[in-house]
Amino acid sequence: MFGIIGRVRDPVRRLLDLDGPRGREAVGAIVGGFDRLLHDREVGEPLWSEHPNYTDAVARVDFGEVRWQGLHDPLELPGRGRLMAAFAAGYVRPDRVASRVAWAANTLQHTVPWSRVYIGPALWVCCLDDGNCPVGGRDFGGYHASYTGQGSVILLSLERRADAFHEVTHHEAWHAAAALMRPEALAAVDEATRKRGDDWKGDAYLCTPDERRARAYQRFATLADEGFDMTAPLDFERPDAKGVFWWLYSGAFAERVQDEAARRAG
Ligand SMILES: [Zn+2]
Repeated sequence: MFGIIGRVRDPVRRLLDLDGPRGREAVGAIVGGFDRLLHDREVGEPLWSEHPNYTDAVARVDFGEVRWQGLHDPLELPGRGRLMAAFAAGYVRPDRVASRVAWAANTLQHTVPWSRVYIGPALWVCCLDDGNCPVGGRDFGGYHASYTGQGSVILLSLERRADAFHEVTHHEAWHAAAALMRPEALAAVDEATRKRGDDWKGDAYLCTPDERRARAYQRFATLADEGFDMTAPLDFERPDAKGVFWWLYSGAFAERVQDEAARRAG
């Protein structure tokens, strides 16, 4: 009883779903790699030491550390049997791969450090949940997959211009973070995007609340990247979209989740 009262009194905690199944999953993943996460931050190690032929390799980012694997080496994905994803050869300028991978690794480490990230050339995804896959098979810019108890994975394709690659990275970061947010935080974003947003000519996938929120965040984050002042206070009692977005972009959301992970690790 006292624990419940304590949680309700914590205004930040009220907007995080840390005690729900997805929250427990993410916190568990962070606890597992938390020592390394702190270590990397303190010493500022180089992100990687190997330099393969980037055009036929896939970068795997775990807790800020980048390793390279072969184009067709297996991916560790959540929801085995429900999701198929594969990288294929694509048009990638080798001289631009390293900087893009470093940018995405740093951005996602800052915002959703519990997510494993794969970055490779062309990306193909098909979700097999019930045969009703709205987006299956197309070449993808990015994809986020999360199933309770099985981790959170972000897949990114390098076969995009740098600006599109950045937007997709932010988009998938939102999906990874939103999985941990309570409905009150998501409802604050819906207030704008669902009630007043474009109807996208009835495209059912683009009109889903998840996609509307992710697109709105990717644009918010892109404006911040471009130098616009997007800072916004987050009123935890009456959250609004800008406050929630800045909460994520600034890294404050990730810090809060990590603090919780450290507290639980004891
Ligand atoms: Zn999306």
